[in-house]
Amino acid sequence: MTSPVLLLGQTLGFTDNPFRTEPETAARYEQRGAVLVTDGKIADLGTADDLRARHPQARVIDYGAGLITAGFVDAHVHYPQTAIIASWGKRLIDWLNRYTFPEEMRFGDPDYAAEIARRYFDLTLSYGTTTVCSYATIHPESVNAFFTEARARGLRALAGKTCMDRNAPDGLCDTPQSAYDDSKALLEQWHGVDRLSYVVTPRFSPTSTPEQLEAIGALWAEHPTCLMQTHLSEQIDEIEWVKSLYPEARDYLDTYERFGLLGENGVYGHAIHLEGRERARLRETGAGLVHCPTSNTFIGSGLFDMDGLMAEGQRIGLATDTGGGSSFSMLRTMASAYEIAQLRGRALHTAELYWLATQGSAEVLRLDDKIGNLAIGMEADLVVLNLASTPAIKQRHAEADTIWDALFPTIMMGDDRAVQSVWVGGVNRLARGD
Ligand SMILES: [Zn+2]
Repeated sequence: MTSPVLLLGQTLGFTDNPFRTEPETAARYEQRGAVLVTDGKIADLGTADDLRARHPQARVIDYGAGLITAGFVDAHVHYPQTAIIASWGKRLIDWLNRYTFPEEMRFGDPDYAAEIARRYFDLTLSYGTTTVCSYATIHPESVNAFFTEARARGLRALAGKTCMDRNAPDGLCDTPQSAYDDSKALLEQWHGVDRLSYVVTPRFSPTSTPEQLEAIGALWAEHPTCLMQTHLSEQIDEIEWVKSLYPEARDYLDTYERFGLLGENGVYGHAIHLEGRERARLRETGAGLVHCPTSNTFIGSGLFDMDGLMAEGQRIGLATDTGGGSSFSMLRTMASAYEIAQLRGRALHTAELYWLATQGSAEVLRLDDKIGNLAIGMEADLVVLNLASTPAIKQRHAEADTIWDALFPTIMMGDDRAVQSVWVGGVNRLARGD
């Protein structure tokens, strides 16, 4: 039993999905709120006055006007691409060949993998992200480095060995059998250890043979409570390529479905250019979609249909997709989601953006009973935001009348300077100027 800590500030959580109701009624906001953290969990919530009275023994940390919320949940990243983020001038297939694959070759070296894992988690924590779901490389060393570093920091984290057995350089291909064997061994080693989860991870149909997808499908069938993550319908050229590689498939999603790689624990990155049958099957199975807006604009992929997919009842989370995405920051990612929705004719509400970056992503990762919201019983993964972190934001913030108006400039213009403090499992992991 650790001694309780009482965090004071503005507090914001959700009682509902703001896409499914009036956005502002889906939130629970206190201007002078409090969060009681005990044994790594949120033990009580309410107004500062009430919680001070109820828990007089608790150590108090007062964040003043800081906004306390759930930490950000980034539902689709490639931590091995940390060092090549913001590489110029290529579209998806060229970008993979020119930048990504040469860098991923380096992760057979456990020392290099460990160095990048440390660098990656330093960065994500500095941006207030407390959970990521990552692709590793084909090398088991890359998975071990990721989980070792996440575990040392007490993070809830997810990852899997990326499986590829064609259309990649020689040093970056496994086989159907080795993909199965290595993934299985890593799953058995790491899944459920502390706060870690293994994710079955075929990169995408073009870099796997049908035989490999079949082997990975068999592994997932043996471990159906694990997530399975992959990419789906990101660019038009890619979709044409998939159709030429799998001429018998009905559509891109079918290249997964026919090998048992579609299900309620499936997580599909991008999902931009979906056909009608694909949308129907994704909804029927309850699969999760992950919107990666900075990546979609950076690589020129297209405009995700947030409104249409939400209206159909799809499950949707938000992600940076580093390093195809151009930022480690979920604030920047929310801003990009706002801009993409605007290009489709709809201004997403601040509550909708924030929900996507926290609870929406947690739902897609099937972790919404543990993380992604400020609610009693949830794990105490928290971010405290300074809503006036730069001169430009501060002068705009001064004009705000509501929490939504106060938060929106930080979403649009904020960076790591807005992240005042980060708590991971009830432990303070970052404190900036407090
Ligand atoms: Zn990706």
